[in-house]
Amino acid sequence: MASDRTFGFRTRALHAGTPPDKTTGARALPIHMTSSFVFESAEKAADLYALRTYGDIYTRISNPTVAAFEEKIASLEGGLGAIATASGQAAQIVAFLTLAQNGDHFVAAADLYGGTITQLTVTLKRLGIETTFVPHGDPAAMRAAVKPNTRAMYIETIGNPGGRVGDLRAVADAAHDAGVPLIVDNTFASPYLCRPIEHGADIVLHSGTKFIGGHGTVIAGAMIESGKFPWGSGRHPLLSTPSPGYHGLMFSETFGEYAYLMRARAEVLRDVGACISPMNAWLLVQGLETLAVRMDAHVKNGQRIAEFLASHPGVSWVKYAGLPDNPSHALARRYLPLGAGSILTFAPRGGRAAAVAFIEALQLWSHLANVGDAKSLVIHPMSTTHQQLTEEEAAAGGITPDMIRLSIGLEDADDLIWDLEQGFAAIKRHAGAAAR
Ligand SMILES: *Cc1c(COP(=O)(O)O)cnc(C)c1O
Repeated sequence: MASDRTFGFRTRALHAGTPPDKTTGARALPIHMTSSFVFESAEKAADLYALRTYGDIYTRISNPTVAAFEEKIASLEGGLGAIATASGQAAQIVAFLTLAQNGDHFVAAADLYGGTITQLTVTLKRLGIETTFVPHGDPAAMRAAVKPNTRAMYIETIGNPGGRVGDLRAVADAAHDAGVPLIVDNTFASPYLCRPIEHGADIVLHSGTKFIGGHGTVIAGAMIESGKFPWGSGRHPLLSTPSPGYHGLMFSETFGEYAYLMRARAEVLRDVGACISPMNAWLLVQGLETLAVRMDAHVKNGQRIAEFLASHPGVSWVKYAGLPDNPSHALARRYLPLGAGSILTFAPRGGRAAAVAFIEALQLWSHLANVGDAKSLVIHPMSTTHQQLTEEEAAAGGITPDMIRLSIGLEDADDLIWDLEQGFAAIKRHAGAAAR
């Protein structure tokens, strides 16, 4: 669209990256289910392989349907570009391996998604990449944990599952003072509620499986980069020294602001192979079209359910940054002005046994391992998503045996509350039976 106008979020969600198809006139995005693309000539083929020209070769590296999703999500996050991946975990590993190799180090908040923690403490550790975990992602402690071989800092916008809101600006300042980029997992907020690049982040990650897909139908991920970090400073030798993968090519010298995205795609995505299917990229585009309206509805239901639980006599605690007494409330108002998301944790009175009785009694809330579905979901993190953590890791992440995580969907809030009351009634029955 030839215009100087800066379009709003909802307009970009519908139009960025997805104009009508030039060859067929199809208004919806075509799904290019092809592994490979025909070369115009032998010379063009050689240029593509040498990164002298840009174009599609093979869907593991790029594909037009995938590129449409990448352009749309980059536009929504306010980044220079994006790379879609097979999953959120894949987006993380591509982000990490683009910056770090054996002997390198990351500084990360301690209260992260359990899968991210094990990726860092088990798989990357075995490859010789160490991580220092900082309780609550405290900016001063993150700053103090930096070493000469630190390659990035890592936090979540809204921690999974504890719901702590990261102080994006303060951690970005700490990272930049140390000469390293800030990576933010923005999955729980989605680009509608928060755009970390606006607050200083350099790399944004998503599990597209959650709010972006939005309907519990697809496993997918994305990585977006701002294009603002000085990759040629020497702090990231993988980007600024000759690469054996491309006959000594230096990414920062050759590609400037695109250095990170080019290395991530041309070397890491190529070698790791964690690419997205064009079909799944198409499902993410469908999801993004309605992201804003869905998130408004998610947040409204989330706030309502949080307030219901906070005033319920059967509840011992609720963690939701949208509640005024939550420790993250001030940060939520700053970074999540449209609402604190729709995922919360709480504990019914009665400990682990009560939590289990509660979950098993629910009918509308699906007991499963996902969040961000249009349908409401429930899980017990200690025995599932965070089960592989050590006791200390679980404690650092705020995971307790009585904790229940809710992902609040788009049903009528009254019906969701009716079902939660069934859970509380089951706890009473259970406690009565135990006393007899
Ligand atoms: C689910 C999730 C991931 C992992 O994403 P997958 O798509 O399941 O690989 C990473 N971070 C957060 C915050 C998540 O909720």
